[in-house]
Amino acid sequence: MISYRLAKLKNKFCQCDECIDSSQEEDETGFWAVCMRCGLPVEDSFVMEGGDYLQSMMLGDE
Ligand SMILES: [Zn+2]
Repeated sequence: MISYRLAKLKNKFCQCDECIDSSQEEDETGFWAVCMRCGLPVEDSFVMEGGDYLQSMMLGDE
């Protein structure tokens, strides 16, 4: 499994013409779709975890 961040860094996104089957992976920053054919993250599928982390940063809460 290759993380979305690493994929972006190395520009190794899914290049399949059709990406029908995908699964979902996640880490502490958010989640993204992974192509079941090639096993690479799907470009622009990343959704940032909007939750407590960012909120607590904005509120200056430890
Ligand atoms: Zn693919």
